[in-house]
Amino acid sequence: MSTQTAENHTFQAEVQQLLDIVIHSLYTDKEIFVRELVSNAADSLSKLRHHELKGETIYDASLKTEINLTTDDTAGTLTIQDFGIGLTREELLENLGTIAHSGSKAFKAALAEAKGDAANTLELIGQFGVGFYSVFMVAEEVKVYTHSWREDGENLCWISDGKGSYRIETTPDTQRRGAKMVIKLKEDAKEFAKKERIEGILKRYSSFVPYPINLNGTQVNTIQALWTRSASEIKPEEYTEFYKFQANAFDEPLQTFHFSADAPLAIQALLFTPKQNIERFGFGRMEPGVALYCKRVLIDPHPRHLLPEWLRFLRGVIDSADLPLNISRESMQDSTLVQKLSKVITGRFLKFLADEAKKRPEAYREFYDTFSIYLKEGVTSDHTHQEKIAPLLRFESSLTEAGQYTSLDEYVERMREEQKEIYFLHAPKRSTIESGPYLEAFKQRNLEVLFLYDPIDEFVTNHLGEYKGKKLVAADSADLDLTDAPEQSGETLSEEEAKALCTWLKERFGKRVDSVDSSKRLVESPAAALNADRFMTASMRRMLKSMNQDAGAAPSVKLEINPRHGLIRNLAGLSQSDPDLAGVIADQLLDNSLMAAGLVEDTREFASRLNGLLERLAGKKS
Ligand code: ADP
Repeated sequence: MSTQTAENHTFQAEVQQLLDIVIHSLYTDKEIFVRELVSNAADSLSKLRHHELKGETIYDASLKTEINLTTDDTAGTLTIQDFGIGLTREELLENLGTIAHSGSKAFKAALAEAKGDAANTLELIGQFGVGFYSVFMVAEEVKVYTHSWREDGENLCWISDGKGSYRIETTPDTQRRGAKMVIKLKEDAKEFAKKERIEGILKRYSSFVPYPINLNGTQVNTIQALWTRSASEIKPEEYTEFYKFQANAFDEPLQTFHFSADAPLAIQALLFTPKQNIERFGFGRMEPGVALYCKRVLIDPHPRHLLPEWLRFLRGVIDSADLPLNISRESMQDSTLVQKLSKVITGRFLKFLADEAKKRPEAYREFYDTFSIYLKEGVTSDHTHQEKIAPLLRFESSLTEAGQYTSLDEYVERMREEQKEIYFLHAPKRSTIESGPYLEAFKQRNLEVLFLYDPIDEFVTNHLGEYKGKKLVAADSADLDLTDAPEQSGETLSEEEAKALCTWLKERFGKRVDSVDSSKRLVESPAAALNADRFMTASMRRMLKSMNQDAGAAPSVKLEINPRHGLIRNLAGLSQSDPDLAGVIADQLLDNSLMAAGLVEDTREFASRLNGLLERLAGKKS
C-alpha cells in the first residue's frame, strides 16, 4: 500500500480577495475559464519544449505534446489534461496558492484603482483574464493531479473548493507527466459538461494554440501559424481572430502589419497595433507583447530585449528561423542576432507607419492620436531611430486650423529661404499661445510657429535639436535672430525716450531681470518676458515646478517693451511726473509678463498690488 498524506493550506489573503471578486463579479462570460486553462496548458507545453531543447532528462518522455479535454455529462465534470511540465509540491504552493506572477498582480493593482466599480471590474476581468482562478466561477471543486517533468517528482493532487483553503495530497497512483484538472461543475454551470458547448468555446478562443487540442478524443483545433502563410491568402477576419487570441484582446486591431524578409535575416512577422492605449487608463506600464518564435516554437511570449521599449504597445509574433533554438531569455539581451532582428523589424515598422501616413492619413491620425506618446518617447530615448521617428510627428501650428496637424516636413517645405530656424511655442492649449505676447512677432513676419501641447514635447524638441538641418527654437527665447519687422505706423516713443525708460525700469527691477530693451518683436502687447536661459526653456521650468522639482536658480529673463504701446508711452511720462505710481505700474507690468511666460513665483503680491492699483483708479474716477 502506498502512503497517502494530506496537507491543508489556506490561500494567501490576496488570492482569497481575487477569488471573491471573480466568483461574485457580474461577469457573465463564464466560458473564458476554458480559454484560461487551455492557455496555461499550452504555456506548460512550451516550457516543456524548452527543457527538451536544452537536452534535459524528462520524466515520461514519450508523451506527446498535446492537450486533452473530456466532458462527462452524467458526472457533471470537465477534465483538462496537458502533458507539460506539471508542478512540484513547492510549485503548487507557490503558483496555485499565492499571487506571485505578473498577470494577476497587475490585475489586482488595476482593481485597486477601479475602486469596486462594477462596470470597471467587469471590464478588467475582460482585459486581464484572471488565469487559473477563473475556474472557480464554474467549479464546485477542482482537483489538479500532477507530476512534474523532473524525474524525482511526486504524484500529487491539489484540491480546493475555492473557499479559503486547499489541500495537497500524495496520491497512490502514478500520474502521467503534466497536469490534469478535474473540474466538478456547479449546478448552474453544468452546460460546461457538454461536448458541443466546449467545442464552441475552443473554436472561438483556442484555434491558434500551437499544440493539438483533443476533445473527447477528437482534435478540434487546426494549428494555424498565421504568420507563416502568405499575406495575400489571409482574410481580414483571420487576422482579427489571431489578434484576439494572441493579444488576449476583445476588439479588432487598429493596424495590421504582416511582412517577411529573407535578408539579412529570415523573418516572418505579424504585428498589430491595438485600438486602445491601455497605459492611458492608468494600467501601468505595458509588458512587451510581441512574442518571439523560432520556426513556430515559442521562445518567449514577452521578450524584454527584442524590440525597443517604446514599441511596447505592439502585439503580435516575430518568427526567425535564424535564431538558435536554445537561445535563453537571459542571453537575448547580448545576442547580436537579436539586435539585428530588432533593427530590421523596427525599421520596417517605421516605414510602414510612414506609408500609412502618406496613403491613409485619416487612419494614421487615429493611430497618432492614440499612440503618439510612444513615438515621442522613442525620440527622447532611442537615439538609433530618432531620425526616422521625427518625420512621423505631428503638431498644430500657427498656420493650421485648430485640430489640424502639420508634419515637420510640411513645415520645412513652407519655410522661406531667409528663415533659418523652426519655431515652437509650448502651452497646454492653443488659446493660451494665441492670447500670449510671443506669437505676434512671428505672425507679423509670416513665420510659422509649431504649437506644442504635450509635456513630453519639450523633451522631444530638446532631444531632436534640429530637423533637416534647421534648428528647433523656442519662440519665447531671448536670443532669436529675427529679421526686421515691417515698419509699424502710429505714435511711438522716440529712441531716446525709450532708452531712458528702459534704464529707469532696469533700475527699478534690479536683479529680477537681466535687461530691459525696446522691442522689435512686439506688436500688440506692451511687454514680454523672454527666456534668456540657454539650458532650459520656460515651459521646461514650469514642468519641473509642477513636478515639485527644483529648477535651480531664478529664471534668467530679458524684458522687452513695446515703444508703440499706449501703456508704455504713458509710463514714460509718468516715470517723470509720478515715479511712485509709475513704479507700482511697472512692477505690475513685469509680473503680467512673467505670468504670460508662466514664471510668476508668488501670486499673493501680484493680487494685492493689482488691488492697490484698482483702488487708485477707482478713486480717480469717482
Ligand atoms: P498566469 O498564467 O497568468 O501566470 P495563472 O493563475 O493562470 O496565472 O497560473 C498561475 C501559475 O500556475 C502559472 O504561472 C503556472 O506557473 C502555474 N500553472 C497553471 N496552470 C498550469 C499547468 N497546466 N501546468 C503547469 N503549471 C501551471
